[in-house]
Amino acid sequence: MENQQHIVIIGGGFAGLNLAKKLDKSKFKITILDKNNFHSFPPLFYQIASSGLEPSSISFPFRREMRKMKNTHFHYGAVLKVDTENSIIHTQFEEIKYDKLVIATGTTNNFFNQPQLKEKVHTLKSTAEAIRLRNEILDRLERACITTDSERRKQLLSFVVVGGGPTGVEIAGALGEMKRYILQREYPEISKDDVRVILIEGTDRFLRTMSERASADAANYLGHLMIETRLNCLMESYENNILHLSNGEDIYCETLIWTAGVTGNVIKGMNPDSIARGCRYIIDDSYRVKGYDNIYAIGDIAFLSDTQYPNGYPQVAQVAIQQAKHLASQLNGQPVSKFVYNDKGSMATVGRNRAVCDLNFTYMYGRPAWLTWMFIHLISILGMRNKVNVLINWIWAYLFYSTSLRLLLRPVKYPIRKHWIDE
Ligand SMILES: Cc1cc2nc3c(=O)[nH]c(=O)nc-3n(C[C@H](O)[C@H](O)[C@H](O)COP(=O)(O)OP(=O)(O)OC[C@H]3O[C@@H](n4cnc5c(N)ncnc54)[C@H](O)[C@@H]3O)c2cc1C
Repeated sequence: MENQQHIVIIGGGFAGLNLAKKLDKSKFKITILDKNNFHSFPPLFYQIASSGLEPSSISFPFRREMRKMKNTHFHYGAVLKVDTENSIIHTQFEEIKYDKLVIATGTTNNFFNQPQLKEKVHTLKSTAEAIRLRNEILDRLERACITTDSERRKQLLSFVVVGGGPTGVEIAGALGEMKRYILQREYPEISKDDVRVILIEGTDRFLRTMSERASADAANYLGHLMIETRLNCLMESYENNILHLSNGEDIYCETLIWTAGVTGNVIKGMNPDSIARGCRYIIDDSYRVKGYDNIYAIGDIAFLSDTQYPNGYPQVAQVAIQQAKHLASQLNGQPVSKFVYNDKGSMATVGRNRAVCDLNFTYMYGRPAWLTWMFIHLISILGMRNKVNVLINWIWAYLFYSTSLRLLLRPVKYPIRKHWIDE
């Protein structure tokens, strides 16, 4: 229809996809652009990395979701720059004209002032990164099983996780679970003492964004899973497999997992004045990016501050989803008041049967928290097939400790596609 405005949404994560779902399809033509052809579920990336789930269980093809959405189209491509004068965005494949642009590109890894780390460490910000880490772990376990040199075996199985937020705690917990329970069943050649897992955090407690009680319980659970921990400790350098810490300690480590920070996926062509700390776009109450009338930002990439959140709203799924729904109502022309974030609480799991949940009305820990964690994640995953898949995998792993997912599937080298843009 000719009088329809074209809204282009960059990024089909929690923010972008929920916005597209809620926009009035009779008023707008909608295009979602994403560098992947699927929506993913980051809270469970660590389960891909630890072979608990297969990638397809927590990935959802956009085209399947679009079937139910009228007047909405998916375009595959990484946005390389935006020409704000002419309202055109450029991907590696095409140029797309927009009337309104919504940036929902989320975040990527932040290596702070050590960009060289990107080549040396493992990260968990995408499905592809999680698969890479899974392959690394499986490859090391297999090599450790066949080496006759006990010192080399220990070197192969030296893991350090940097960053004691939810992702760091969860992947460290999964490695601890592997050390404590899985090795003896599936890798009998390896003893528990051969595996070293260390979790390092710069502040005085793990899960800093949660309650002190949650941090204390998480620390206990980590100890139970034979994970060494360091608090108030920063990583200063990582050279030749030696990790140097701010407390003067040197640790030998061949697999370094970096979960210590994120930074916004900003797009070239935008005025630098519109970017705040953490590389997030400064938005006003109507989600307009500073200095632009027809460009909006939501989710992790958006920086909205008020008295309650002077450093911006937390970069979590609920903020992204709630902002998306609020912006949709506004663009649809419904009367809306100022955005108020309904914080439903936060949770993290540390291996099986152990989790911590800070909910609005109560605090939970141990098995009840773990069951709550599973339930919340299960209902949040898109698609019935995915939910059933995840549930079956979890029940199977719970009963038998084994999954059939410990497959070392390496990518073949050729053909290398020039248009697959690496981050
Ligand atoms: C490992 C991990 C665990 C997490 N656990 C939790 C949790 O337990 N609970 C919680 O609430 N939050 C959690 N989060 C945070 C949560 O995932 C984010 O807050 C949420 O995904 C933000 O949604 P978003 O739509 O803003 O960004 P995202 O979900 O990151 O989506 C961004 C989308 O933009 C696309 N994109 C990026 N750049 C481009 C480009 N240039 N061109 C085209 N497409 C692009 C990406 O492919 C992606 O699909 C976790 C995050 C991670 C990484």
